[in-house]
Amino acid sequence: MVNFPVRRDSGEVEMFTGYRVQHTLAMGPAKGGIRYAPGVSLGECAALSMWMSIKCAVVGLPFGGAKGGVRCDPNRLSAGELERITRRYATEILPIIGPDRDIPAPDMATGEREMAWFMDTYSQQAGHGVPESVTGKPVVLGGTVGRRAATGLGVVFCMEALFERLDWSMDGCRVAIQGFGNVGTVVARELTRRGASIVGLADVTGGLLDPEGLDVEEVIAWVAEHRFLRGCPAGEATTRQGVLRASCDVLIPAALEKQITAENAQQLECRLVVEAANGPTTPEADRILLERGIMLLPDVVANAGGVTVSYLEWVQDQQKYFWDADTIADRMRRQLHDALGRVFDAAERTAADWRTAAQLVALERLVEAARLRAIWP
Ligand code: NAD
Repeated sequence: MVNFPVRRDSGEVEMFTGYRVQHTLAMGPAKGGIRYAPGVSLGECAALSMWMSIKCAVVGLPFGGAKGGVRCDPNRLSAGELERITRRYATEILPIIGPDRDIPAPDMATGEREMAWFMDTYSQQAGHGVPESVTGKPVVLGGTVGRRAATGLGVVFCMEALFERLDWSMDGCRVAIQGFGNVGTVVARELTRRGASIVGLADVTGGLLDPEGLDVEEVIAWVAEHRFLRGCPAGEATTRQGVLRASCDVLIPAALEKQITAENAQQLECRLVVEAANGPTTPEADRILLERGIMLLPDVVANAGGVTVSYLEWVQDQQKYFWDADTIADRMRRQLHDALGRVFDAAERTAADWRTAAQLVALERLVEAARLRAIWP
């Protein structure tokens, strides 16, 4: 935990509190995002760092989990104030981060801009450019092509592997998506390209339903112009929660945590839930879905395309040699398909659901690494 002063634009000095939690260092450096939000706390960072350990381990990345952030309201801060917060926070946690220790990445309210400031601050202290100190940077500073679409594309790659296993066809598959931001937009567009029909979409302002399939490009063009879905003439309007109850084959929560709850889990009309968001299903809802025989592909695999491409960014930075978008997509696909294979095998071996199986795969790997390293001295 770090406390540090930052000069506001008004000239006043304000104290901020920042956090960085590293969950395990048994398998390599720690990896995880940095968020700016009023509710950031040590407990939240600790929980999210554990989540990252599980995600990295299930996908087979050589990282432990980490998470950090600064408790602040980014909507009330100017670009200059955010830069000063980022640079001072980076300086405060400098002794515990670095390409071989802990590699930050964007999370809520942070993006390429903050990662550029972070990387520059680290590099100023090192005396030379260290692009491999963070991921999610602008491409011109050593970021990777394909990072922005990685999480959404990863969701689609996971679905392709799962469909093959279930002997389902993407052609004509009816999909509803809650969340039409970075992840939801890519998922909608890529699934449409593969023949699926997007029968429901929602963002924070409301949703759209069309059993015949929405024209996704038309909706994307609307959002590009109007920012939100509200008022879009496509389909029939519904609430942002209404989309969860759409009759479909696959429901993809891609917005926020805790959206599928004990209150609405009985009303879902899908055969499969693919968790593109982190933690969209509460434990109570999880049990209800299991009882109802609705399959669920858990977040730690379904949305792991983002951290997988972050890993590929770190690798490219270290070797100072950059790959094209096809190579990156290909390597991500292979990594995710292998991870899914391990999860399905574990589910069969233990007769567990896929979420439990994913955790089992991850914990077996974490425990083995810790056991083999044993105790020093
Ligand atoms: P984003 O901010 O780009 O988009 C979020 C979308 O959700 C927006 O369309 C917003 O309007 C909508 N939304 C917000 N509140 C809503 C509500 N109450 N009901 C319906 N819709 C609502 O975020 P993103 O990057 O697309 O991330 C979406 C989810 O995926 C998050 O849970 C995030 O943690 C997870 N995720 C993202 C990445 C990534 O690389 N971007 C990686 C892993 C996981």
